Amino acid sequence: MSIKSNLLKILKDLPKEVTLVAVSKTKTQMEIMEAYKAGQRIFGENKIQEMAGKWSALPKDIEWHMIGHVQTNKVKYMSEFVTLIHGVDSLKLLKEINKQGIKHNRTINCLLQVHIAQEQTKFGLDEKELFEILESPEFRTLGNVRIKGLMGMASFTDNEEPDANILSMGMSGDYKIAIEEGSNMVRIGSSIFGGRNYP
Ligand SMILES: *Cc1c(COP(=O)(O)O)cnc(C)c1O
Repeated sequence: MSIKSNLLKILKDLPKEVTLVAVSKTKTQMEIMEAYKAGQRIFGENKIQEMAGKWSALPKDIEWHMIGHVQTNKVKYMSEFVTLIHGVDSLKLLKEINKQGIKHNRTINCLLQVHIAQEQTKFGLDEKELFEILESPEFRTLGNVRIKGLMGMASFTDNEEPDANILSMGMSGDYKIAIEEGSNMVRIGSSIFGGRNYP
């Protein structure tokens, strides 16, 4: 199976309103270009410096999504070009993204990462923390970030902000279920590019 045929098969199955983020972490520029030539323009990476390297080498009409955990001190390496940061989980991080947005005179789109209450995950906000951020006076002053939705789970989606309509949920193994649960952005890596080899 080629990257192209994997990609086209997945795209054929996806409902129209669902956006595919092709997760290309650890994959080479050549592999990404195979998906690019088949028409894919949105790619997801989980390491900022790896993403920045690929951004500078590859065609400029690619939209790069940061899907991994973001360290505040690394925001600067992607603030010039990143299209959507999925894993925003603190006001501190939002403030840094805003600061870098101002520097580059652009508004940076973000998703707030929420975690499933029963799960012991390291990252992500619970419902209370999520609303603390959205309702804080400081948040309203951040003119160079835009919250476009949530990464994580479906039960937090009744958000009032009209512009916030993305729910990023679902990977190779569970994207069909995630779409049934309301996801409209899936992050699929291994089903497109094959397994990853970590050094
Ligand atoms: C790696 C990764 C994916 C893709 O996982 P696959 O199982 O390869 O589809 C999706 N989301 C995040 C946050 C990831 O780190």
